[in-house]
Amino acid sequence: MWHERIQDFGEEVQPDSTFRFECHGSLSCFGKCCNAEITLTPYDIARMRRHLGIDTAAFLPGYCNTYTDRRTGFPFVTLKQGEDDGCIFLGRDGCSLYENRPSCCRNYPLARVIDEDWKSANRVVRYHLQQQTTYCEGFGRGPDLTVDSYVEMNGLGPYEKANDVFLDVPFTFNSLPKHLKQDRDVQSMVFDAVFNFDGFFEKYGHFPHTAVPDDDGELIVLIRNIVLNLIMKTGELNPDPHS
Ligand code: SF4
Ligand code: SF4
Repeated sequence: MWHERIQDFGEEVQPDSTFRFECHGSLSCFGKCCNAEITLTPYDIARMRRHLGIDTAAFLPGYCNTYTDRRTGFPFVTLKQGEDDGCIFLGRDGCSLYENRPSCCRNYPLARVIDEDWKSANRVVRYHLQQQTTYCEGFGRGPDLTVDSYVEMNGLGPYEKANDVFLDVPFTFNSLPKHLKQDRDVQSMVFDAVFNFDGFFEKYGHFPHTAVPDDDGELIVLIRNIVLNLIMKTGELNPDPHS
């Protein structure tokens, strides 16, 4: 999965429980957290590349490292580091694209975890309060917060909506036979469609009767539908030779 760092999960926060956390520029730890590895979702990329006024074909090589998960074959993208091993967007005054910072920066110190209930096959959303690092001074400061108030305060609503829309994509990719999940051409096609979507639209032209939306949330819905279709067609056209 691309939008949570499983190793950082801490104590689960119940909907009615409260926690205290406040982050601001006058703390001596300001910016220290921005040396962590930041994994980006397609919606994060849509917002950040719009903020910078460039397309994904320029954004990805300029600001990101791109990988393929060896186990699942699914691509993922992280932010590059700049000088002093901090995030490439970390400046003297903090995040240079703060209003369009990515999901995991907004969520901190919460981690949003999505599990599949094996009995009902429904997805279950849980929030965890991440382990406190030795340097982060934000814990225990400020007024009582709930998950809902933190989500609202940090403008996470559209991020959660768009990221949830995309969850079907890695799940569906995972249902492909192994020879397709590990096929470089299939991986490259999925990478382009999921992350380099501006380049993908440029390369393949606009789909019939489909205008590329200006709204990033709508764009993510469109990309999700195209990618699901591509993955399913790929599976149909290339059945598992061993089955
Ligand atoms: S309080 Fe924590 S999250 Fe805020 S700048 Fe300091 S280390 Fe980062
Ligand atoms: S995107 Fe901004 S908030 Fe997130 S790690 Fe980079 S500088 Fe920090």
